[in-house]
Amino acid sequence: MNFAKYAKSVTMLVRGDSLTKSMSQYLIDQIAATPNITVQTHTSVIEAKGGTQLEALVLQNAITGATETVPAQSLFIFIGATPHTDWLEDLVQRDGRGYLLTGPDLASTGVPPHQVWSQERPPFLLETSLPGVFAVGDVRCGSIKRVASGVGEGSICVQFVHQYLGAVR
Ligand SMILES: Cc1cc2nc3c(=O)[nH]c(=O)nc-3n(C[C@H](O)[C@H](O)[C@H](O)COP(=O)(O)OP(=O)(O)OC[C@H]3O[C@@H](n4cnc5c(N)ncnc54)[C@H](O)[C@@H]3O)c2cc1C
Repeated sequence: MNFAKYAKSVTMLVRGDSLTKSMSQYLIDQIAATPNITVQTHTSVIEAKGGTQLEALVLQNAITGATETVPAQSLFIFIGATPHTDWLEDLVQRDGRGYLLTGPDLASTGVPPHQVWSQERPPFLLETSLPGVFAVGDVRCGSIKRVASGVGEGSICVQFVHQYLGAVR
């Protein structure tokens, strides 16, 4: 929406079949009502071309496999996120995508509980499978990927840290 105020035309390339699965309806409505935005579905960027700056993109249709080269001056990428948690693999339980499991979610691993959690007490809400190690924000499985959520979880977590320290002292 911001680019559309300044650019002659904005093309949104979507790998899936629509924006609806991952975007709020109010934004979809705004995009649909903006004449200089075009949404092109089933499309991936497979190559960027140019000399000292971007001049063209090679696009591929996911259904037909057909490619086309289109002129382009700017490319903005917004394709989601991957948690960088490989280094924690042997330490804490993660979901299939690498997000850290905490609290009640630890029961959803499919691994026998005694292999996931070593304590008599249940894990605190934001506690990982390693007692005393907590996870908040985007890296936590099931978290709402927003700044306010991350900050909120961080502030809630402090209480659990105090409880944990109180119990181990
Ligand atoms: C393009 C985009 C637009 C967004 N727009 C909005 C918005 O409009 N409103 C909104 O509320 N939210 C928005 N978000 C989401 C918001 O940015 C996140 O929810 C928020 O930043 C999560 O905070 P976090 O602290 O959990 O993680 P991050 O902000 O990702 O912070 C994690 C930090 O840990 C560092 N790190 C990673 N691994 C290690 C390591 N091994 N050692 C040390 N440091 C490490 C990273 O470098 C990073 O600095 C947007 C996100 C993106 C990508």
